[in-house]
Amino acid sequence: MVQILAGVAALVMAASLPVAAQVAPERPGIPGNPSQTGYASAMAKEAQGWLADLIRINTSNPPGNEQIAAMYIAGILAKEGIKAEILDLMPGRSAVVARLRSAAMADPSKALLLVAHLDTVPVDKSRWSVDPFGAVVKDGYLYGRGAIDDKGMLAANLAVFISLKRSMAHLNRDVIFLATADEETGGDASIRMLIAKHWEKIAAGYAINEGGNVFLKNGKVQYTGVQASEKVAFNVAVIARGTSGHASQPTKDNPVVHLAAAVAKIGNYSAPVHLTAIVKRYFEGLAPLEDDEIGKWIRSMDSADRGEHAQRVISDASPLWNAMLRDTIAPTVLTAGVANNVIPAEARANLNVRLLPGDTIDVVLNELKKLVNDPQVRLELQPNAGLAAPPSSLESDFYAVISKVVTQEFGGAPALPFQSTWLTDSAQLRLHNVQAYGLVPFPLAQEDLRRMHGDDERIPLAAFDKGVEVLAKIVTEFAVAH
Ligand SMILES: [Zn+2]
Repeated sequence: MVQILAGVAALVMAASLPVAAQVAPERPGIPGNPSQTGYASAMAKEAQGWLADLIRINTSNPPGNEQIAAMYIAGILAKEGIKAEILDLMPGRSAVVARLRSAAMADPSKALLLVAHLDTVPVDKSRWSVDPFGAVVKDGYLYGRGAIDDKGMLAANLAVFISLKRSMAHLNRDVIFLATADEETGGDASIRMLIAKHWEKIAAGYAINEGGNVFLKNGKVQYTGVQASEKVAFNVAVIARGTSGHASQPTKDNPVVHLAAAVAKIGNYSAPVHLTAIVKRYFEGLAPLEDDEIGKWIRSMDSADRGEHAQRVISDASPLWNAMLRDTIAPTVLTAGVANNVIPAEARANLNVRLLPGDTIDVVLNELKKLVNDPQVRLELQPNAGLAAPPSSLESDFYAVISKVVTQEFGGAPALPFQSTWLTDSAQLRLHNVQAYGLVPFPLAQEDLRRMHGDDERIPLAAFDKGVEVLAKIVTEFAVAH
């Protein structure tokens, strides 16, 4: 108890720092049992201060500059008597790792990794109604770049990790805190490099990371999507070539025209539906949660006679569902032209392709070549192609714990296995046999989810508090000896 009180004293001192003070805990001196809701919510209040501080540290990627955020976190851990290690990956770009041991000899196959990334996507400041790095609190929301993606989870992981230490929990497995860099561009400071250089520091059998969400519908949790797999990203250049010349005498081989025609065909293309095992389970669980009409079409998706129509209805109902059912191809960048009165020799487009795990890019490329059917246009796969990872098991003990806790905590709304259309660090972990699950534990409405990577990103503080509590329960149930 003495140590716990000392921990709380450190906590009170930390809260007196100016930055943390804005959203500091109201009732310091809470008993140190993480299974008690009061403690968890005091932790959450403190974590709000860390989240606000992390938002104020601009880690827009590029360039990232994650080292400053890594040092901030190492400083917080040091105050708790936890020695964190800053792992430098590139100049100014670092990850941070810390470990709570369960025994003198670590068993990596049992260890649990709490993962979040330090970097964020950039902002278009002119489109924000508040300072994106000001951590402004307004109407119960904390605004700022990274509030959801992924500094919210970073602060929640930190809170749960520190609460294990403060409560002197008897762990049945090592718990490793990991904050990664360069997640948003997956470049040379990313988890790929971290694994290549420092695997022994983060080796684990299980991980919890971003990737899945607690989905609110009409103010209630509809379900929790626990990410167990993700799509794989590729970029493909569409290159049209022709003869450059004077714009006053147009020619038939103008590459701008050929590129535009090719992009239009590709934009209208819809790849065939391919239900992966996880997506099948997702829709089976979702059908009874939707209204009768949607539920009926979901159930008909693999029927012989109405299947195709049902797939179309479901794809049209939601861009997310559409992208869960098939490979997608999105034209994203167009480049052509040197002057208004010059026909250029080349015009290019970039296609961002997202494949279902198990599908191959060559098949898609061949399909697109046939579709474009223009000898002046060629398709070229770009470097840094994604690597498909095996899905995490839906039968593991950890998945069972996550499902049980979220179902209890969110009023019986079920956990559904989720295959994200977006990428996370978990793919790299899964490639190293880690059973990684994606769950941003904050219940969020569509209205807030769509602000991720967009303008006025924000997190409801009540959702943040709840998420910290839920994450604490998941980790306690899985890693603390009862
Ligand atoms: Zn993220």
